[in-house]
Amino acid sequence: MSIRKIWIEEGCISCNLCEDTVSEVFQVRAGDTSRVRKGYIRLLSDPAIVERVHEAAESCPVEVIIVEE
Ligand code: SF4
Repeated sequence: MSIRKIWIEEGCISCNLCEDTVSEVFQVRAGDTSRVRKGYIRLLSDPAIVERVHEAAESCPVEVIIVEE
């Protein structure tokens, strides 16, 4: 499944799981909530990255990672 856009809704608990799963796309800075890295769109041509983004979204404990396909 291809991805068109990724964003994080309010409610992130900064557990770091998304960055651990796909650090190319997500960044959780100390004392902050998760954010999607600038320029992530170009990475989405890699099926392995796309797969890990889906995995991160499905594993987020508060389900705030939104993936638009
Ligand atoms: S997995 Fe979810 S709760 Fe954890 S840091 Fe990422 S967005 Fe936040």
